[in-house]
Amino acid sequence: MIRYQAYIRKLAQALRTELFLGEYALDIVFFKGAIPDYENAAATCDVDNTYLDITVKVAGIVQKHWRNKHYWTICNILCHELCHALTDPLYHCSIQRIPDKKIGAWGLVNNEWERVRERQTQRITNVVMALLPKSFYWPATVGNVKTGPKPVHRGGKT
Ligand SMILES: [Zn+2]
Repeated sequence: MIRYQAYIRKLAQALRTELFLGEYALDIVFFKGAIPDYENAAATCDVDNTYLDITVKVAGIVQKHWRNKHYWTICNILCHELCHALTDPLYHCSIQRIPDKKIGAWGLVNNEWERVRERQTQRITNVVMALLPKSFYWPATVGNVKTGPKPVHRGGKT
């Protein structure tokens, strides 16, 4: 039986491939309890869009999900964090337009940017999760299920 940390690493790598994030290096950092500065988060994600690094921090609560065999929940959490790599570039362009970091150029308060960011990230997560077979995040088969990426077909040769 695969162990907890190996499972998380395999699943995160599989999701990285699934989301076409192969150009990013991916690091996982485990915490026994809460993630410092993010008391209520099951996981967080730091995305470096210049040097193409993703660091996912995983809180102790995820190990509880593991013990309870809540594999779908774990996959949903990791998928959400990796989807941040898809939404982050647009998010960072957007917040640069907030002069005082409170009121946006279009009259949105900073919290609303955060909500939109999280919501759009979760929407992409929901689409991905709906398409993944159970075997993708099942411990016995994690890392072995290839659903994508598939070759891109751009029409006939010229
Ligand atoms: Zn998020």
